[in-house]
Amino acid sequence: MRRTKIVCTLGPASAHPAPLAAMIRAGMDVVRLNTSHGTMAEHLANIRLVRDVATAEGKPVGVLMDLSGPKLRTGETRDGKPIALDPGAVTRLTNLTVVGTAAAFTVDYPRLTEDVRTGDHVLLDDGEIELEVTNVTAAGLDCRVLVGGLLGPRKGVSFPNTNLTMPALTERDQESLRAGVHAGVDFFALSFVRDADDIIRARDLIHSLDADTPIIAKIERRQAVENLEAIMAEADGAMVARGDLGVELPPEDVPVQQRRIIASAGRNMIPVITATQMLESMVDSPRPTRAESSDVANAVWDLSDALMLSQETAVGRFPVETVAMMDRIIRRAEGAAPPAREMMISMAPETDDHSYVVALAARRIVESDPNMQAVVCFTRSGYTAFLLSKVHPNAPIFAITPNEAVCRRLSLARSVVPILAPLVNRSEEMLEVVDRLLTQGGHVAAGEEVVVVASMPVDAAGTTNFLKLHRVGESAEY
Ligand code: PEP
Repeated sequence: MRRTKIVCTLGPASAHPAPLAAMIRAGMDVVRLNTSHGTMAEHLANIRLVRDVATAEGKPVGVLMDLSGPKLRTGETRDGKPIALDPGAVTRLTNLTVVGTAAAFTVDYPRLTEDVRTGDHVLLDDGEIELEVTNVTAAGLDCRVLVGGLLGPRKGVSFPNTNLTMPALTERDQESLRAGVHAGVDFFALSFVRDADDIIRARDLIHSLDADTPIIAKIERRQAVENLEAIMAEADGAMVARGDLGVELPPEDVPVQQRRIIASAGRNMIPVITATQMLESMVDSPRPTRAESSDVANAVWDLSDALMLSQETAVGRFPVETVAMMDRIIRRAEGAAPPAREMMISMAPETDDHSYVVALAARRIVESDPNMQAVVCFTRSGYTAFLLSKVHPNAPIFAITPNEAVCRRLSLARSVVPILAPLVNRSEEMLEVVDRLLTQGGHVAAGEEVVVVASMPVDAAGTTNFLKLHRVGESAEY
């Protein structure tokens, strides 16, 4: 069994029945729709396509809608030609719409002159070009070019040491979110989150639509790194969005923050996705670089819940092969080394909450008894399964839930195999269900032992308060 899950971004290379089915068979667990590209009509058609193909393949596949957020961009240039920004030259950034030249160009942010201060730095085109603000006037930002280069039209802009006041959820995101709730997506990812309020605003909107879709905070801004603990306490999941994070922070900080974000997700008991450039060279090549396969393995050993493919499956030449390669590297890494103890310690929440203590007990039993093959939980909301996932028992976690949406949400949780089945009320019936589902699915054999965990009574919301050691096949004896 593979524990770490695989998220694949959909795009022209994969949004068709045949590659999608092949990617599911190769190991894809969650599909990501990137609303920075394509129209909402295309995304909605793709959600239907994913649902149909996943049903035909008999696998719960989650759908994550990634809201593009307030990505700042430069304006147009004459005839789309790049403008040359030479080191030492002066230039002006304005929020008026102008045809860009080396002397002045547009940055589409209304609060440009209010938020940015003299001395702040500006990064253009994924950090290729760097400017320093020398003066702020009503006309715009006067800047000196520190690192020069050719600037094309509509390139990304970031202000690594400025506290921008724009909220993470744009008007366009709000429309996407409404459409996504209506279409029943399983997760939203929120881009360019600054603080916990950004999550609260998005959640208020989701609740106003009578939904409870989980929100994954993309950690990609310096402000988010600074406000990490508050964001993680509010979010339902996190993404280490290394692409933009690596623009706002120096490259040497990205792996450090990756570990910090994963550890914080552990303490907050929420899933975390490590994303971007994981097997980037496979966009054009059937094999990854050695550095990429090491990166995937290290993200597994860091205890990511899921790893994400972006361009590789959206526009790459080898989408199915990339998923198969990621599956192989993950399995090899997981088989070679158990989770590092120091990582597990840094991830442990400080709580005596009974549910958590029951989950810890399940882990200890699995650790101390080589006959224990699995943890099985009954869960209505998914809570017990996410909790068990975060204590990292050295065995698969079979999560039995009556709720299809919960089943798909659990596609993101490390070590969890979601199983859709009606809930039963009495413990004797539960053990019968365990025997039937686990042996029919070929997961465990009669005579093997499992730890069964649940919240009783199952039809009331409450803490995880039930733990039973069970030999598979013996339910008839109770
Ligand atoms: C990232 O920046 O790493 C990321 C995942 O976000 P996006 O692909 O939307 O830029």
